[in-house]
Amino acid sequence: MTWTLSRDLAERMVAHALADHPIEACGVLLGTGGVASEVVPLTNVAHSASFYEVDSAELLALYRRLDTEGLDLVAIYHSHTSTPARPSTTDVELAFEPHAYYVLLSTAREAVDLAAFRIVDGNVDPVDLRIGVP
Ligand SMILES: [Zn+2]
Repeated sequence: MTWTLSRDLAERMVAHALADHPIEACGVLLGTGGVASEVVPLTNVAHSASFYEVDSAELLALYRRLDTEGLDLVAIYHSHTSTPARPSTTDVELAFEPHAYYVLLSTAREAVDLAAFRIVDGNVDPVDLRIGVP
């Protein structure tokens, strides 16, 4: 499976992950038809270096926007601050959006690593992530 993400959005996610490091950063990409058009950074209320918990009020506001503006939750992203850009066991257990891409960013090294996956019923499928013009 191939998914193309615009360079601008990829850079925004990377900037967010770096800004929050060493705390895990989390957020979503909104858009339509699988094409992301907007990065929405969310607050990791856990303020943890090893897991994230999305602010519930922000999440509620987000789902309202999806309804009122007819947007799709194209992707869910978060960073790993000391481990590779791959879903952890916990990430897989907590993945309840079979139609969304799961984007993992690793800020463990200076050059931020970015990878995308589909997670359906506990199965992780790597996505061929291309950065360019969707
Ligand atoms: Zn994770």
